[in-house]
Amino acid sequence: MLNIVMFGAPGSGKGTQSDMLIETYQLFHISTGDVLRDNIKRGTELGKTAKDYIDKGQLIPDELMTGILASVVDENADKARNGVIFDGFPRTIAQAEALDKMLAERGTAISAVIGLDVPEEVLVARLLNRGKEQGRSDDNLETINDRLKVYHNSTAPLKQYYEEQGVLHMIKGTDTPADVFNRIKAELDPLV
Ligand code: AMP
Repeated sequence: MLNIVMFGAPGSGKGTQSDMLIETYQLFHISTGDVLRDNIKRGTELGKTAKDYIDKGQLIPDELMTGILASVVDENADKARNGVIFDGFPRTIAQAEALDKMLAERGTAISAVIGLDVPEEVLVARLLNRGKEQGRSDDNLETINDRLKVYHNSTAPLKQYYEEQGVLHMIKGTDTPADVFNRIKAELDPLV
C-alpha cells in the first residue's frame, strides 16, 4: 500500500496534486475539507457543526475529525486497497498521532509525506483567485488570514513530527502544476 499525506498551507496545491496522483498511482483520495463541504451541502448534523468552524477559518475539533476520518477509511476499504492520499488531514499533532495509530491497527503505515512549499504571498493570491472562480465561502481575505495563522500555529509543527519519522519529502510548490507533479513523482517512484 502507498499511503501518502499531503502537507502544506491552504492554497499550496494539495488538492490539485492529489487529483494528479490518484490517477498515476490508483489511490483513494480523502480530502477532509471535501467531506465537510459535502456534509454542509446535504445539511447533515455534522455539516451544521462544521460550517461555523470553516467560516471562521478554525479547525474542527480533533476528536470529531479523527472519528470522521476513521469512518471514511473503513467505508472505502475496498477502493483504498492500493493506498490512500490524505489531503487536509492531519492538521494537528494529535491528528497525526491518531492517524499513525489508526493505520497501525489496520496493518499499514504512512509511506510518504509530501510537503508543498509555497511563499505566503503566492498562497494568498491563489486563494483569492479560487474564491473568485469557485465561490468557496472561506476564500475571502479575512478568513484566509485566519486560516494561515491556524496553519502556522497548529499544522506547521507536523513538519518536524514527520521529519523525525524520516518520511517527509519537501517539494517546491511553485511553477506549473505539471512541474510540481514531476517533482513529487521523482520522490514517489522509488517507493512503489
Ligand atoms: P480544506 O478544504 O482542506 O482547506 O479545509 C477547509 C476547512 O475545513 C478548514 O479550514 C477547516 O475548517 C476544516 N478542516 C478540513 N480538514 C480538517 C482537519 N483535518 N481538521 C480540522 N478541520 C479541518
